[in-house]
Amino acid sequence: MTATDTLTGTPIALVGLGKIAIDQHHPSILKSGAFRLAATVSRNAGLDGIPAYTSLAALLDNQPEVTAVSLCTPPQVRHAMAREALEAGLDVMLEKPPGATIAEVEALTDLAAARGRVLFATWHSRFAAGVPAAKAWLAGRQILRGTITWREDVRRWHPGQRWIWQAGGLGVFDPGINALSILTEILPAPLRLTGAELEFPENQETPIAARLSYLTGAAPIAADFDFRQEGPQSWAMEFETDDGVLSLADGGATVSAGGQNLSQGEALGSEYDGLYARFARLIATRTSEVDLSPLKHVADAFMLGRRLTTDPFIE
Ligand code: NAP
Repeated sequence: MTATDTLTGTPIALVGLGKIAIDQHHPSILKSGAFRLAATVSRNAGLDGIPAYTSLAALLDNQPEVTAVSLCTPPQVRHAMAREALEAGLDVMLEKPPGATIAEVEALTDLAAARGRVLFATWHSRFAAGVPAAKAWLAGRQILRGTITWREDVRRWHPGQRWIWQAGGLGVFDPGINALSILTEILPAPLRLTGAELEFPENQETPIAARLSYLTGAAPIAADFDFRQEGPQSWAMEFETDDGVLSLADGGATVSAGGQNLSQGEALGSEYDGLYARFARLIATRTSEVDLSPLKHVADAFMLGRRLTTDPFIE
């Protein structure tokens, strides 16, 4: 089936045709019965058979029937595009992180409410197959301690992405915020940062590694985010509780607890199908969903973190 065969559903435009738009958003929109890919907005790229524009303004002028956009651009340029789309009367889905600052996302939330538009700030990792089971399992137990190990090879997963190393691009917190989005979803009690060390390559504006100490209730949670991981990659969490151990791997797709397998999926598996199903439901009920807690934890790490300078990063 091609995109043009799908003639029903909310006409949506995909904005920013980079890695995640091509790998995940496009296939999930094609599969979704709720959306029809009506256009793309990209400075350089297009998709076969889909009308393409190089700016949001050109899309709005030429295809007024489009009522929703999915913004897959880097965080530094997302606010301006989201504002333009909301002011033009569109419903807006934001890739994570929802913006480069907390205040700019709050401003979008207010704008969406004032205009009666739907704003959906997505956290794709919360849609990983094992996250609901992990949350349910932890709900009735006392956490004694936890460890988060989010270590990946930036050269493998973010090739050529200059924006990730520029202020506002978050560096290792670009994947790390996914761990924080899961943590803030599954922990029964709030999370609070008590200490952090951030390593900045001497030639970059964002950190390549972070070691973070949190408390949830009285339980310590230690997080290790690193972009220098060669060999096996790790997107894992482990929680020791008063009633066994919960382990989460593959970014939340695989979960086991008390020696039992609760979920066995693939990293990124059906996360984006879930996001588009949620966006469709939010549009149907005219409801916005914006949870800033993962972004607040990143801001806290930048505020409290001790900055260390490390070797230059050269791609
Ligand atoms: P990417 O490959 O660099 O793509 C981003 C796209 O945004 C670019 O290809 C470009 O598309 C467009 N863009 C518009 N203005 C830009 C600017 N000033 N600088 C650079 N690009 C600009 O990045 P990505 O990996 O797809 O990530 C995009 C967002 O999705 C990020 O917020 C990221 O955190 C999130 N995300 C990524 C992944 C992943 O695995 N890669 C997973 C989940 C979420 P055009 O040339 O078409 O304009």
